[in-house]
Amino acid sequence: MVTQILPEAPAAAAQEVRPSRFTYAVPHDDGGLVVYNSMRGAITYVPESHAEAARELLGNRTAVHRRLDLPDELRPMLDGLLARGFVVPDSDDELQDAADLRDQRVARTDRLELILMPTESCNFRCTYCYEDFGLDRMLTGVQRGVTELVRRRHEESGLTSLSVSWFGGEPLVALDVVENLSEFFLDYCAANDITYAAGMTTNGYLLTPETARRVTDLEVRSFQVTLDGPRHTHDDTRSLMGGQGSFDTIMTNLRGLAADPDLDLDLMLRTNFTPENVGSVPSLVEEIGEIAARDDRFTVIFRPVGRWGGPDDDAISACTGKDAELLKLDLNRHASDAGMGVGDTKMLRPGGTVCYAANPWSLVVRPNGLLNKCTVALRMVENMVGRLAPDGTLHLDDDRMALWTANDETQDSGCRSCAFRPSCQGAHCPLIRVQDGVRPCPSVKTWIGANLQTFADLQRQGVAVVGGAA
Ligand code: SF4
Ligand code: SF4
Repeated sequence: MVTQILPEAPAAAAQEVRPSRFTYAVPHDDGGLVVYNSMRGAITYVPESHAEAARELLGNRTAVHRRLDLPDELRPMLDGLLARGFVVPDSDDELQDAADLRDQRVARTDRLELILMPTESCNFRCTYCYEDFGLDRMLTGVQRGVTELVRRRHEESGLTSLSVSWFGGEPLVALDVVENLSEFFLDYCAANDITYAAGMTTNGYLLTPETARRVTDLEVRSFQVTLDGPRHTHDDTRSLMGGQGSFDTIMTNLRGLAADPDLDLDLMLRTNFTPENVGSVPSLVEEIGEIAARDDRFTVIFRPVGRWGGPDDDAISACTGKDAELLKLDLNRHASDAGMGVGDTKMLRPGGTVCYAANPWSLVVRPNGLLNKCTVALRMVENMVGRLAPDGTLHLDDDRMALWTANDETQDSGCRSCAFRPSCQGAHCPLIRVQDGVRPCPSVKTWIGANLQTFADLQRQGVAVVGGAA
């Protein structure tokens, strides 16, 4: 599918327009342009035959065009760009729109996101893991605190939306905690007209079809499972606690899930790549494609392994910078060729690269009731933002909370003038600001040209790019 801006696009409503400050127009290697707007999440490929007109209208960010003054041949292009938000009426206050977007996200009191650790124990010992497995099952008083917190939020703040992410450790090691709390969430939300969604980050070893049915029946429907390449590389980095490989069991589980079309789930397969395993990741992609190609319940993402604070950090060789980004994009293309959906396309939408840690209504609940914001730096003092009491009261340190929730575009003039601001809001990774005091630009923005070109190509292959074809 080639997405084109066609001459018969709707007529412009406004007479004076200018390029949106959130529009990117980047050249495509095959000719033509890729045009993207981060406020609309819209991306389109303009073929070379129409590209000159688009360049003329988008090339100068400050130029104001009066439609009536334009030559006839440019007017259809102007209408198309306006209809899709790539140009905007000159009277639009886009900076205010961007500020509103961030403020509306932060101000929500009717929403609660809980990242629950039913245990910090894990049946794996991944080489790059940053957890110390110090805390076991979630205490009964903490589980009660979670249910009371939800009740309080509803009674005191009119909760309308609850989202729960099960995290660990390995959450399926404490399946009974997941089930007990999920039953409460499901019943309480149904009785009180609260929208409820739940997901789980799991290593996949215990995610048999039978377990998947048990938890999907409780509305836990989104899963993230990690595979570090095919068997020989995966088992090197993601072994069981006793050192045995885990690949074959995970693949058996995935085959079972894919073979049951009645299982209503979304499963994102994450592959962490290093200089050592990256060459064999395409063969994993093909293996996955044989199981789940064109099954829109399954998507893939690829991430370079980083030094995430684990004890083996010094021994880890990491792909970084542009090399890592280009490898990631190349793997996305492999995945698309293998018929797999690509999860990264969601980053293009407004808010698509904001980390949950930046949301005041998002909290990580540890098994002992300690509250964190970020799921990576668990033992960092600034990340210990409070404690959950058994009666559901949140004892929060407001100053520490603000480090994660207010340390964003509002404090940073560079972010306020950034063309990617609606997606990132200066809040892609609050940990980077807290730790290093620098802007946490997501790699998709740093290498925007290569990313937009890849996403436009995927869209032309029929992959759904979030925000949609413009
Ligand atoms: S703050 Fe950064 S490291 Fe922590 S969860 Fe968010 S993106 Fe990850
Ligand atoms: S952190 Fe970077 S990408 Fe995000 S808004 Fe600021 S300048 Fe833009």
